[in-house]
Amino acid sequence: MKNGESISASVSLPRFIVFGALKSMVKRLRMCGVDCAYNGGLSLPNTILAAISDERILLTTVPVADTFRLKVVLISESHPDSQFKHILKLFPSILEGEALSTCLVCNYRLENYQIGTSPADIPPSVLDRQLPLRRCPKCARIYWDGSHTERMRQLIKNLIESH
Ligand SMILES: [Zn+2]
Repeated sequence: MKNGESISASVSLPRFIVFGALKSMVKRLRMCGVDCAYNGGLSLPNTILAAISDERILLTTVPVADTFRLKVVLISESHPDSQFKHILKLFPSILEGEALSTCLVCNYRLENYQIGTSPADIPPSVLDRQLPLRRCPKCARIYWDGSHTERMRQLIKNLIESH
């Protein structure tokens, strides 16, 4: 996961849909640039239907039968670090994803953003350092390579080293 590089064609990232108390996994996976759908209002049967029609792997805290059309990963760990480690072990290609490529809120791919194309609330420290900016085409949030991406890299590094 190197910032500023695009995902190479040889890397095939898994795509997920999440059901149950796994909100922190949604955020972490999106931080890694992984396509992860989540709708807290969706029932389990509707989540399963969405997983099948959209060809997503179902991450769930509730046991669901695997079928030939539905791939299920049951998460039984309770700590977010353990949950994430479980997912990384099964899908190591997640680490090849591009950080800062996906909106943490909407799951949309971020676009490059130039200051001046529309008003934005960006801290002066970010402007001063002339960090590359990205913008969500849906909710218009602006992202940059800041403290939380650094925390994320550190977290992943720690998890890998503790294997
Ligand atoms: Zn967004």
